[in-house]
Amino acid sequence: MDKAIDFINNIRYDGLDNSDMKAEEHMSEELLTPAEVAGLLGTAPRTITRWVDDGILPAVVTPGGHRRIPKSAVMEYRQKLNREGPRKVVIINQKGGVAKTTVTVNWAVLLAQSGARVLIVDLDTQGNSALSLGYDPDKLERTLYNSLLHPQDVPLVDVILHTRFGVDLVPLNLTASNMDVEFNSNPMWGLLLRTLLDTVRDAYDYILFDCGPNLGKTTVMGLLAANYVVIPTQPQKLSIHGLRMLLSRIEEAQAAGNPNLQVAGVLLTMVQGVQTDQAMEESLRKALDGSSRRALKVFAGSIPLRAAYKDVANDGEVMAALRPNSEATTYFRVTLAELLTVIGGATAPDAVAPRQKVAV
Ligand code: ADP
Ligand code: MG
Repeated sequence: MDKAIDFINNIRYDGLDNSDMKAEEHMSEELLTPAEVAGLLGTAPRTITRWVDDGILPAVVTPGGHRRIPKSAVMEYRQKLNREGPRKVVIINQKGGVAKTTVTVNWAVLLAQSGARVLIVDLDTQGNSALSLGYDPDKLERTLYNSLLHPQDVPLVDVILHTRFGVDLVPLNLTASNMDVEFNSNPMWGLLLRTLLDTVRDAYDYILFDCGPNLGKTTVMGLLAANYVVIPTQPQKLSIHGLRMLLSRIEEAQAAGNPNLQVAGVLLTMVQGVQTDQAMEESLRKALDGSSRRALKVFAGSIPLRAAYKDVANDGEVMAALRPNSEATTYFRVTLAELLTVIGGATAPDAVAPRQKVAV
């Protein structure tokens, strides 16, 4: 930081307009390198560089062309993120095999690549998130279940697994199969997950919940803890009846103490051939007319049916990690960028969007 003071007199204030920093204002400011800022915000230096380029953090440019960021702006930004807490998104559909887990892990990996701190909470006793991220769920001694049952003895931090994808995971496995019955005697069961997550709120920017194929207690816990809902569905498997049930669960969660829960949209997955999203959206709207006070948005982007996604998953890999710049990953990028325009948070939509427009 002394170095920062040393060159402060030589700083070029090129390209800074009124919305950027005024030279005089920051002459006496402590300036930090992207690496130092990354340390303070718990992210990667290249993310900080990108935030500067995207205008999220202000910076000055040294004669050598390096970016330096005023410490006060960094502290202000950190406070803002902490105030707002992580964006919590529940990926939900009571049908199995509609790509909930695939979307969750790919989005999580892309968010982590952008420098965000990401946690996946597996709410499916099948433990597919753990499998996708390199763990055998049935070999795990402690899971979310233990933490929910004994929050004092098993704090959530003790259950969190780090993965080689840069994403953290709260796993679940078949030991929790009886959970719905077990929590019957606990009138506060609905808020258990939310309370546990409050203990790690400052450690993550995004928390994604991967739901199981049901609307049971674990799923409802997710709805009570989340801020946003994403509903992946295969177009041909779309069941208006199922969707209505899901929407009424969402409305119940809103009424039961989570009034700000918002449906970010329906995401079409495993799309075959040419299906126009507008037509799908229109028919959804018509079918749901009157059943929900909220308009249901369908993501403009969608995920096509591709054997490659399955092959990669079967090899214990995640497409976005294995082939981050492939066309296959583009679909996750486009849809995640769309999600980020709705939910905001630490990652700018541009940070995950494809660099070039790829024909979809
Ligand atoms: P869910 O979590 O909703 O049960 P998964 O994400 O586990 O669904 O996906 C079900 C199966 O379909 C998995 O074998 C997965 O690899 C495969 N799969 C997921 N998305 C696609 C896709 N877009 N195209 C082809 N196969 C897919
Ligand atoms: Mg799944």
